[in-house]
This record gives sequence, structure tokens and C-alpha cells, in this order.
Amino acid sequence: MRTAAGRPAYRRCLAPLKPYVPGGTAEDVARHRPARISKMGSNENPLGPGRLAVEAVREAAARISVYPDPSAGLLRDALARGTGKSPGNFLVANGSDEVLVLIAATYLNPGDNAVVSEHTFFNYEFAARVFDGEVRAVPTRGLRCDLAAMRDAVDARTRIVFLCNPNNPTGLHVGAAELEAFLRSLPRETLAVVDEAYAEYADAPDFPDCAALTDRFHNLLVTRTFSKAHGLAGLRIGYAMAQEALIQDLRQVKLPFNVNAAAQAAALAALGDREHLARTLELNRLGKDLLTRALAAKGWEVLPSQGNFLCFRPTVVTALEVGEALFRQGVIVRPLGRFGLEDWIRVTVGTPAQNAHFLEALEGPAGA
Ligand code: PMP
Repeated sequence: MRTAAGRPAYRRCLAPLKPYVPGGTAEDVARHRPARISKMGSNENPLGPGRLAVEAVREAAARISVYPDPSAGLLRDALARGTGKSPGNFLVANGSDEVLVLIAATYLNPGDNAVVSEHTFFNYEFAARVFDGEVRAVPTRGLRCDLAAMRDAVDARTRIVFLCNPNNPTGLHVGAAELEAFLRSLPRETLAVVDEAYAEYADAPDFPDCAALTDRFHNLLVTRTFSKAHGLAGLRIGYAMAQEALIQDLRQVKLPFNVNAAAQAAALAALGDREHLARTLELNRLGKDLLTRALAAKGWEVLPSQGNFLCFRPTVVTALEVGEALFRQGVIVRPLGRFGLEDWIRVTVGTPAQNAHFLEALEGPAGA
């Protein structure tokens, strides 16, 4: 098939896709020549990678003429040891983003649908549309995922339900009892994907134990990443955790060498670096508390977050104006218009210096 312009036509299902707009980069903001730059728009680890991961990458560099282990065996062994599961319960991928695409590639036939919540991570919709799936976005209730309404949206052609927990960008979470009831209510043929990209940060007593739930629910698949708490976003490595049958399904569509050797080595080292993880979580806890109090003291609404970021709603000035004023002063945050939350901003919890920069900049020409 040819377009009128006489060039190859891309598939019609791609037409509704909007290009992904990443968080601002340090290079973008440098154009304004701010005295400092604080990158707080992409939920990265403000401490950077751990020392052990960096050493592992250095060592791996000497072996990059050799293809990586296609099954990421050592890493899967370590993940199994850490969770009391077996290596067959894990599939490692090029970021958890790749897992989402593999899921859609495995389970969606054209015209099938995926159910998602409103105001959530965009890549569920992306993955479904690329494989010609329909997307049913279910309105939230007071910004919380409405699991009852999501269950009601499931029909005979629903293959996948995506749930982000805690949710990006709100930081809100679904508790264990609610999640379990939801999983029990789903048809046996519908896959439930719980994206736990930020689960390491969650400390709510009722936060679900999805590793245990995957033992009980044959149709539950959990995605996790080394990009956030483990500080390896630039290497691209994440994984799926599920019963073996689901993992074997996904393996059919995985490219053999999807995860590079440096990423595998770094992730293995990061899993063993308890100290870096503990420092990361403590820094996040203190910073989240500080920023929550400071934003609330301005009379702004701040959502209780289980992640490494906060979602807040400025008053008086618009979210876009606040975002732009912060940007000019070297602070990169994420105004949430693209998530359907025009009045809200997401800020990643930073180092104490970054948090102070953000709060100072808010008092400055942000006009707030
Ligand atoms: N899920 C959520 C909720 C995320 O926020 C992100 C990263 N922005 C991802 C998945 C993708 O992470 P990765 O770097 O592992 O591809």
C-alpha cells in the first residue's frame, strides 16, 4: 500500500499515537544559563548509580566484543534468590518499557482491547496501539484508579488490564486487599499487569506483596525496573515476574540479545548493593517529607506519594507557568498536561541541594 505522497504507508493503528515527550534534559535547560541545574522531571535516582554497579560496568567493558547472555541467567538466579521464586519466573528486558511491548506483542490480536486507568503512564496505551489493540481508559475517582470501573470495562475482547502501582504520575497506590479482590474478579483469560516501577520506595503497610500474589494468580504479571531505586536508567534494564507459563509466552517474542552485557552486570551488582538502596530510600523518605510540607505550607494540594516523586497543584499561577519559571531557573519538573492533569506538576524528589534549589526557585520568579 502507498500513500498519496508515494511512500510506504504506516499501519493505521499507529495514527492515534502521540510522540513520546521525555522529561527535559540538562542540555535543554542549559540554554537559559542558570547558575545550577536540578533535573527533577524524570524520576531518576538523584544519588546516581551505586559504586558496585559502576565497577561492574567497568569490568564488563573489557568483554563487550562478546554477545550478552540471551537469558540473563545470573541475574535471573539472583532475582529468584531475592524473592524465594525460581529463575523461570523472570524475564529480563531492555527496560520495563520493553516488557510492556513484549506483553502486547504476545497477547493482543488486532481488535482486542487493553484496559488502563486515566492519568497513568503512557506506555501501556503505546504498547497496545502498536499491536492494533483498542485502549479503554477508565476515569479515575478522586484521581485514584477505580478498580471496580476497570473491572466493568473488561469484556470478552479484553486481553490485558494494566495497573501502575504506585501510579506514575500521581504517586497514589492501590492497597493489598483491593488489588486481591480485583484479581479475583477478573476472568481467568485476562492478563493483569501490575507495573511496580516504583515499588521499592513504597512503605505503606497495605502495599501489596506482588511477588507472593504471582504464586497464587496464574494471570498476574508484574513488571519492575532497575531504572529508579537502583539508579540504572541509562543502561535500560527491567524485568517481568510471573508464573512460568506466562514467562515462556513472552520469551517467544523476545529478541535474543535484548539486554546488553553491561546492563546485566550492573543490575546484578546493584541487587547486591544493599547500602546504596538503603541510602536511596532514606534520602527519598526525608526529601519527600520536606517537599510535601513545603508545598502544603503554600496552600497547594500535594498527593500522598508512594514513589520517588510528588504530584502537586499550584494555585494562583498555572502549572505550565510554574514549570516554565522553574525551567528558566534551572529546575526541570514535569507539568502533567500530557497525562490529562493540566493543573498538576510532578517533581522528582532530589538530593537536599536539589530540593532546596526547587523550593528557592518556587519562591522566585515562578510568581507563586
Ligand atoms: N513504568 C513506569 C510507571 C515508569 O514510570 C517508567 C519510567 N518512566 C517505566 C515503567 C519504564 O521504565 P524503564 O526505564 O524500566 O523502561
